[in-house]
Amino acid sequence: MANIGMGLSPSTRTGARSMYTDRVSLSYITGNPSLGDEKPAFFSIKAFVSLIRPEQAMWYCACKTCNNKVIETLGSGYWCEGCQKNDGECNLRHIMVSKISHTRGEAWVSAFNEEAEKIIGCSAEELDKLK
Ligand SMILES: [Zn+2]
Repeated sequence: MANIGMGLSPSTRTGARSMYTDRVSLSYITGNPSLGDEKPAFFSIKAFVSLIRPEQAMWYCACKTCNNKVIETLGSGYWCEGCQKNDGECNLRHIMVSKISHTRGEAWVSAFNEEAEKIIGCSAEELDKLK
């Protein structure tokens, strides 16, 4: 199974721990809303994508410098609040909400640009052209 989020979690990158060390079911994660309150919690999940909402906006206009969401300004391009500047162009980046399922639970997850691109199989720019 290809690891979509490879490189996101420091513990999986070093390979120091076995993938079975802290094995839990998906329902354990979704049933503990306080997980990650004190420090970030990372999980690798083996599941399948069971639903991608067709009505969602699957990409957003991002600043070409910092990748934050930009606001389209009338006739003059895109404003980035983070960089405090206007640009004539923006990059389209995926933000995809989907339901993932496995035998012991299901969850709604967000996949951002690089991971969503691996799942969908094309860039947000290409998907925008298809639409
Ligand atoms: Zn910016």
